Amino acid sequence: MPINPVKDEKGDDLTIYVKFPKRRLYLKVWQINVGRVKLYLLDSDIDKNHEEDRDVTLRLYGGDQEMRIRQEIVLGMAGVNLLTKYLNLNPTIYHMNEGHSAFLNLEIIKNIIKEKQVSFEVAKDIASSKTVFTTHTPVPAGNDIFPLALVEKYFKDFWPRLGLSQEEFLKLGMKPTIELEEGFNMGILALKIAGKKNGVSKLHGAVSRELFGEVWPNIAANESPIEYVTNGIHTCTWLAPKMKELYNKYLIPYWQDNIHKSQTWEKIKNIPDEKLWNIHKERKIKLIKLVKDSTSERLRRSGYSYEEIHEIVSKLDPENLTIGFARRFATYKRATLIFKDLERITQILNNQEKPIQIIFAGKAHPADKEGQDLIKYIHEISMMPQFKGKIFILENYNIAMSKYLISGVDVWLNNPRRPMEASGTSGQKASVNGVINFSVLDGWWAEGYTQTNRLDHWNQCRI
Ligand SMILES: *Cc1c(COP(=O)(O)O)cnc(C)c1O
Repeated sequence: MPINPVKDEKGDDLTIYVKFPKRRLYLKVWQINVGRVKLYLLDSDIDKNHEEDRDVTLRLYGGDQEMRIRQEIVLGMAGVNLLTKYLNLNPTIYHMNEGHSAFLNLEIIKNIIKEKQVSFEVAKDIASSKTVFTTHTPVPAGNDIFPLALVEKYFKDFWPRLGLSQEEFLKLGMKPTIELEEGFNMGILALKIAGKKNGVSKLHGAVSRELFGEVWPNIAANESPIEYVTNGIHTCTWLAPKMKELYNKYLIPYWQDNIHKSQTWEKIKNIPDEKLWNIHKERKIKLIKLVKDSTSERLRRSGYSYEEIHEIVSKLDPENLTIGFARRFATYKRATLIFKDLERITQILNNQEKPIQIIFAGKAHPADKEGQDLIKYIHEISMMPQFKGKIFILENYNIAMSKYLISGVDVWLNNPRRPMEASGTSGQKASVNGVINFSVLDGWWAEGYTQTNRLDHWNQCRI
């Protein structure tokens, strides 16, 4: 595997550390080469650490808040030290993807104060010029908020080094209201220090300005300094190989280097319907096989008989209109909305002339009981007599599975509660593969929908 331990000058494995209240936590450093990009990983599972501390980097979710603050101190603070002190890299810009790494601001400020002997305010301004923050969701649970006692436990030796009082320090993670709030919000810490701040679509930018308006009490909420950069996808990663071949043949030469120019896509209309449809059908057949295999395996594991399993999976048919819904089972995405009127969906799904099948996939956050219940509900529905063999839910949704789904279904369904879907890039993955995006005007689609990319605009479309 293209992963190696980073070595120090003596040729030993490089280990760095952060100071926790009881003792130091040591971290082994690994390097992965992702193409030409170097990715560094910090690993606490080494002999040098106390038994209790070795699992800090073991899993992302599942620990308590103390585990989480330890992980974020590792990411933000040890991360900065690794780059600047050990690897002698001097990043021009640090990008915080969500607030999880926002402690990096504090480490950067501390280092500037130490090096340049300046005040906190001056150091903060310099740190601002080096930091960018992207917020990704208007869902409140998307931001970590730590109890103050926990922040005090881990930072009480730290704030004097910034020249701050306890209160001044704690308020870095709070809206500037007069009262002390109950928690230290990592998103607010990032917003207060980062020089540039953005949401991930035009609509989400506007929503974020309102949502975080109180961080800047002296200006109108809609003028909060939060901009937007609409999330995109890496087209060639998500394009089915056969589709890519088709584009190579019909689009302008070097279209892959010019995907952002509308003129690149003018010739897409020259692709004969037959050819487009044949490739789509191949993708659909592959998807149906995946659904069959995955469902059979899961039901077998749950003790269903061969006959029962056969009865369900044999109804899958690549000739049927196939609707796909695959995303995290966050409640705002409303995975079960299509079942709101059970009688009506029963009629639609049982129309003999226009057969339909719906394929779901996704995971819920380990702490999100409501999200997990949605998965259970879809499973239960899929086992009701009128829905058997028409509704499927796949386990272990991941990037590999996603590639089958976004290119193999006919319609990609997206019905979040507006404006909660910050971007929703899976719809872009479907679209580049010629799959119809059926969506609420939320996230990227509020920009992507132009009124001319409607189904009825393409009068030759025959699904
Ligand atoms: C693209 C992708 C997502 C993001 O999908 P949304 O449209 O934002 O819901 C999530 N998981 C996987 C595996 C993906 O490929």
